[in-house]
Formats: sequence, structure tokens, C-alpha cells
Amino acid sequence: ISMKYAELANAGVHQQPVYEPGKPIETVAREYGLDPANIAKLASNENPFGASPKAIAAATDALQSAHLYPDGNCHDLREKLAKARGVSPESILIGNGSNEIIELLGHAFLRPGLEVVMGAQAFIVYKLVAKLFGATPVEVPMSEFGHDLDAMLAAVTERTRLLFVASPNNPTGIANAEADLLKLAEELPEHVILCLDEAYAEYLDKAPDLSAAIHAGRKVVCLRTFSKIYGLGGLRVGYAYGDPELIALLHRVRQPFNVNSVAQAAATAALDDLEFVEMCRTENGAGRKVLCEGLAALGCGAIGGAANFVLSRVGDGMAVFEALQSRGIIVRPLAPYGMPEYVRITIGRSDENERLLSTLSELLESGEVASVR
Ligand SMILES: *Cc1c(COP(=O)(O)O)cnc(C)c1O
Repeated sequence: ISMKYAELANAGVHQQPVYEPGKPIETVAREYGLDPANIAKLASNENPFGASPKAIAAATDALQSAHLYPDGNCHDLREKLAKARGVSPESILIGNGSNEIIELLGHAFLRPGLEVVMGAQAFIVYKLVAKLFGATPVEVPMSEFGHDLDAMLAAVTERTRLLFVASPNNPTGIANAEADLLKLAEELPEHVILCLDEAYAEYLDKAPDLSAAIHAGRKVVCLRTFSKIYGLGGLRVGYAYGDPELIALLHRVRQPFNVNSVAQAAATAALDDLEFVEMCRTENGAGRKVLCEGLAALGCGAIGGAANFVLSRVGDGMAVFEALQSRGIIVRPLAPYGMPEYVRITIGRSDENERLLSTLSELLESGEVASVR
């Protein structure tokens, strides 16, 4: 037998970049001979406070019905989200994480020859999905670590179908103002869908509201997730809201049971625990201040942003990442985003933030990693 699977695969598969997720705690513990209980994972913007006890109780309960298929329509969750967002349930689609919905947008709207406009340091999944469908990612330089909406508008051509703005953006943390987003929605030609990724919206004091643009018939879809402030990343739930006509198209291209029953139950219950969300937001703000001040005092530049992570200009991002990891603290080096001097640090609990700062201080003092100054 001489024919290889690789020869049978679609041509695009060979060009498809591979996503490098943050390493799981157990993997790092094994590789460095560390106690998993002693590892601070500040790499993937997970919620350091876990999930709401109400969500965990509902998930545990739902396990009793694990032998039954989930509700393929996610009825309860959509009803509740519709109320929360002030839209009809027909305006909402639940996904297996918002990542799935980004792929569904590709299924529905992308093909070879079309283009997807995105920021040069934006969430990497936009590029992966564009390529998956043979479309061309058009990466627009950012300004002061934020999306340059004018430049993005200028990058639109007849071939553009999707334009992604994450606000706050990952990995840079910078948010765009509501007025600027509304202006973009207004000015985009009607063959382009603005996809506003609001994964970190709950960390903002006031999230931008594009519902007026959606009601006015502008082509806008918004994405949210339960993976960040709701602390349910392991269960994979996200949602889109937008015009019912668009949402109906996305329903057509999803799998019938794309969101499992445990995830649906947990997400539905999580929406009721406003107190938990408020606590996470408050602690996150306090942690951001501690980290930014501490990093600045160490001579490392800090960009606080508006999400649940900060960027720090540490010099050699890869070296700092490795040195911290060997001491049980996992952060994210940003060389893959073209920012080799930076690491991204998820804001942790206060003990984790203090540990990050004291460990980094030791590394700099001992000369194990070179100082940025
Ligand atoms: C974390 C994140 C998501 C969430 O993805 P899920 O699939 O819902 O876990 C989406 N967009 C951005 C920009 C993110 O950082």
C-alpha cells in the first residue's frame, strides 16, 4: 500500500495552521515534577474563582439524565438569554462554545475567493476558520493594541463577507467604544457581516449595545460565552444573538445536538447567580490594579486592558514563560501573535497574583531572565 492519507486529504488541510492551547495543569505538573495542586494556571483566561455553585449543582443534577439526548433547541437557555438581551428567542443560537459559532459563520458564509477582515493581533480562531473554508484572512494592523475600526473598514472589498472585532480583544485586552462600533456597523456595506465577539463583555462596566443597529437591519452578529466570567469553559457553551434571519441560517448548519445537557443546565443556572458574577467582576478589577502596579514596579510594562488578563512587556516573553512554568506558574507567551516581548497573564485570585509578582521579581533579581530595562 503506497497511498498515504495525506494524499487523500483536501489540499487545504495541509495548509491549516494548528492551534496551540495553553497546557493543562496536569501536563505541566508531569513535565516539571510539580504538585498539580500548586500550579497557578494564568494562561487561558479561565475564571480563577471557578463556577457559580448554582451552576455546578444544576450540572450535577443534569447528570441524572445523561442517558437522554439533550434538548436540541436549548429551549430554557434561549428563553432566559432572550430576556437578558432584550431580544426574541429566535434571535439566539447556542453553540458548543462561541468558537463553534465562529465556525458556523464560516459554514454559512465563507468559501474560496472570499475574504475575512480581522485585526493583526486578534483572537486566532478567526484566521483558522477563514482558512478552514478556503477564504482569505485580511489582517489589519492595530493601533495602540486596539482594533483600528477605520482601517478595518478601509480593508473591506467586494469579496469581504465577515469582519471580526473582539471587544475587549484577546490577546490585547483593549475595548472599542460603543459609538465607534455603531458607526462601523452603520458604514459597512451590506454584503459584510460585523461579528462582535463579546467574550469579555461582562468584565466591562458597561458593555457596548449594538441592538439598535441589529434592529435597524444592519448586518451585525454578537457572540458571548460562558467560558470566561461564568467559569464554565470546560462545558463549552457560547451564544450568538442577531437578526432572526441570520440566526436561522446558522441553525441550519449546526449539528442537531451541539450543546450537551449538562452544559445547558449549568449555563441556565449560571445566569441566575448575579452575585457570583458581580464578585468575579469586582475581584478582577482589584487584581488588574495589583498586577499592573506590581509589574510596573518591576520595570515591566503593563497593559491592563478591560478584560480578565493583562499584558506585560517582560523582554524575552518565551524565556519568562518557561522560567515561570518551571516554578508552577503558567502564562501565555505572545510570540505567536507577533509580540515576542510580551506575555499575557490571566488575572488570578489575589494569592496567585502575588505569587506571580514575587516569582517574576526573583527571576529578574537573580538574572535568570534578563531585565527589560
Ligand atoms: C475565550 C474567548 C472566546 C470563548 O470561546 P469559547 O469557545 O466560548 O470557550 C471567544 N472569543 C474570544 C476573543 C476569546 O478570548
